[in-house]
Order: sequence, then structure tokens, then C-alpha cells
Amino acid sequence: MLLWFFQVIFLNSFYKGIKINEIKATANTIEKSINDENIATIISTVSENNDICIKVLSSSGDTIYSSHVVKGCIIHSKPDFDEKALPSEVTNNDGELFQYYNHDGYTRETEPDLAPDSASTETDNTQVQDKPPSDEKEKEKDTLIYSKTIIDANDEELTLVLNSMISPVNATVNTLRVQLYYITAFMILFSVILALVIAKWISRPIEAINNSAKMLATGDYSTRFKGTGYQEIAELSDTLNYTAKELSKVELLRQELIANISHDLRTPLTLISGYAEAMRDLPDENNSENAQIIVDETKRLTTLVNDVMDISKLQTGNISIHRQPYNLTASLGDSINRMNKLMEMDGYQIDFIADQEVTLAADESRISQAFYNLLTNAINYTGEDKKITISQTIFPNPADDLADWVKIEVADSGEGIAAEDLPYIWDRYYKVDKTHKRAVTGTGLGLSIVKSILDMHRGDYGVTSKINEGSVFWFTLKI
Ligand code: ADP
Repeated sequence: MLLWFFQVIFLNSFYKGIKINEIKATANTIEKSINDENIATIISTVSENNDICIKVLSSSGDTIYSSHVVKGCIIHSKPDFDEKALPSEVTNNDGELFQYYNHDGYTRETEPDLAPDSASTETDNTQVQDKPPSDEKEKEKDTLIYSKTIIDANDEELTLVLNSMISPVNATVNTLRVQLYYITAFMILFSVILALVIAKWISRPIEAINNSAKMLATGDYSTRFKGTGYQEIAELSDTLNYTAKELSKVELLRQELIANISHDLRTPLTLISGYAEAMRDLPDENNSENAQIIVDETKRLTTLVNDVMDISKLQTGNISIHRQPYNLTASLGDSINRMNKLMEMDGYQIDFIADQEVTLAADESRISQAFYNLLTNAINYTGEDKKITISQTIFPNPADDLADWVKIEVADSGEGIAAEDLPYIWDRYYKVDKTHKRAVTGTGLGLSIVKSILDMHRGDYGVTSKINEGSVFWFTLKI
């Protein structure tokens, strides 16, 4: 488009503009030096340098200076070029006159656009009749004559006449046009081919990814995304591969959970139904010991079901906390006492060290639940000494303008947790060692519940643990 505009449509005007500027500049040079004693030399120099024929006429039309450098120029070689009338014509035209002629069909005629007096000829039919025959008129103008009135040192009016040849632009335009046809055709063909290649290049990997994504949607998590080609596609396929991997993990967890939960449900159910049947059928078995087993197993079932329900409620945000001021130290002490009574028979010892009584606003039942989960984990995983130490300390929290916070630590002497498992233990359904004798009772939900409860309280939580060196689980709350 640009080529068409500049080379075909506007070439003529550009060229004319350049020529006009050139001829005006030459005229100005002569005007400035008109009083110089070497004016004749100056005129012939600029004339030669610019390929412009020059005449300087007196007011009566007589030639004072002349420089003839272009063969067959109109001002020197056309006998009917009317020099006598020119000075007054130029003066009447505000001292400047542009005239375009065709050299071969030269007749005295003024360019309609530039000579205001001739504007009427465009509309006046009778005058058009007087013009040279139309084929002559059609001929391209190849000469520009620029005349200008100047005043010399003696206050005498002189007329500068400059004759510049204009190359026939039309022929050039025609050549360019033909060239542009070829260029355009080639460009269209080339861009279509390029577009097809690029489209294929871009769309092929996208199509492949799309197909893989469909496979993924049907549940085929082993699908791998192959993103070749350019960087964005490679990144997209990496992300999708990662997604597929994560989805397959979730799927695996889901299957494990169903297996775990069914297993966890089946064990107490088998016990309950076994003992209940024995108590019904065998009079000897109908004793409080067996009844206690049934009660314990029912409790285990309840805990399990509650855990599963809690975690889904907590994680979908369907639960809200009710903050009430309460004595945290007393509440923790109660839980520990109850647990101590329960576990004493098995030789467990739970110690509680609190620096002072702490009262804070929190959801007591939820905090107790979180603490209870940490405590049961500690009991489940502690070492042979069966000792668990709970400590409560107040500290100024640097992350909260040194406001007072309380930290609860639950330490056991158990087997600890491997560093590679540490980041995952807070995830839902995550269990470090599935064959662990104690882990059978767990659902892998306990720590995930702790995490959700503390997040809701804007508390912090964490663990320091090394394999065979015990673990210290802790959480903090603002007082
Ligand atoms: P679970 O119901 O299996 O205990 P949790 O979410 O409470 O589930 O804990 C996740 C995993 O973290 C457990 O399976 C266990 O491997 C590990 N874990 C939690 N507490 C302790 C601890 N005190 N000592 C060692 N390992 C622990």
C-alpha cells in the first residue's frame, strides 16, 4: 500500500515539489548576488551545476545575462518564446510565475493550477477551443519555466527566467506500476504461504495439547502433553503436565482414602458386631468389659466420621469460628488431665508446663480440637518412654508489632518425621508410613484439621522434627 501511495499516486507531486524547490533555490542564489560584479560567472556556475538554463531580462524584455546549458530548452531555442511580454506578465502575477510546457508541442500556455488568471479556461468552453489540438495538450509537460521579478542596485526591475527540464514521470510511474503488480502478486502469494506455515506451526502443537487435554478430562491421568515449537506452548504443556501429575495424585489419594476409610470403618464395625453377637449368644460374654469394647469402638467410629465431616466443612469454608474470651491454660490443662486419666493405665505420662495463665478470645471447642489432634498424634507416635511434654509460653511476636502471643508446643520422643515428608504432613489424607502400627487408627486428616483451624484463627503452626529424635508440633495464637 505504501509503495502504491508513494511510487504511483504521489510520485508526480513529490517530483514536482522537489523540482520547484530546486529552481526557487537557484533563483534565490542569483537574486542575492545580482549586484555582484561577477554575476555573469555566478549565473553560468549555478546554471551548470543545476542543469538549469537562465536568462535575466530587463524590464523591456531585453536579455542582460544568459546561460544556456540544456540543449533544446524553451527559453533559448524556441523562437516564439515571448520574452518581451514576460516581465510585465510576471510583475502582474505578484512577481512570480510558474509555467509548464511540453517541449515538442511548445505553445504559449500557462499551467492552469498555478496561474490564477487562467483558472477560467477550465470552465470556459470557448477558450478551450482556442487551445492547441488535444493530442498536443495531452503530451506530458517536460519543462518548468520559473520567472521572478527582482530589483537590482539601481532600483531597476529585472526578470529572472529559469528553465528546468522535468523528466517524464508518467513513463516511470508506468514502469513502477507494472513492477508493483508483480511485487503485489508475489507478496500475496508469499504471505499466504507464510501464513499457512505459521498457522500450522502454531496450531499443530495446540491441537496436540487439546487432544491430550480431552484425554485428561476423561480421567486418563497418564496423559503427557508434548509441547514442542515455541516457548509459550512448551510452558503451557509443562503446566498441563504438572496439572495432570497433581490430578493423578489427588485421584490416588481419593482411592487411598476410600480404602483407608473403609478399612477404618470395617475394623471397629467387625469388633462391634463380633462382641455384640457374642454377648447376645454366649451368656458368659455378656459382661461390662465387652460392653466397654463396643463403647470404645463406637467412639472410634464417631471420631472418624467427625474428622471426615470436619475437614470437608473446614475446607469448603462452611464453618465459622465463634471467638469468646476463655482461659486457654485451664482449657488445655483439662484436656491433658482427661487424657492422662485415660492413658495412665497404658503407662503414658503427659506433662504440662505453663508459664502463666493465658486468657484469649478464640473458639474454644475448635482450639481444643486442634490441640487434641496434636496430642493424640504425640501419643500415637511417641517412643518407648511414653512421655509427652506440653508447654505454653508467652512471647512478643515480631510479626505483629511485638504484641503478646502464646505458643503451645507438643513434644514427643518418638521416631520423628523425615525431612522429605515434613512439607506434606499438613496435607489432607497424608500419612508418612502407611504400614506403621499406629497409623492404622489415623485418617491422615488430623494435621489438616489443625491447619484449617489455625488458619481461621490467623494463628501460626509448625513442626520441628528429626528422624529418631522426636517431634515438636507447635501453634501460636494472639492473646
Ligand atoms: P493421622 O490421622 O494419620 O495421624 P495426621 O494428619 O494427624 O494424620 O498426621 C499426618 C502424618 O504425619 C501421620 O500419618 C504421621 O505419619 C505424621 N505425624 C503426625 N504427628 C506425628 C508425630 N507426633 N510423630 C511422628 N509422625 C507424626
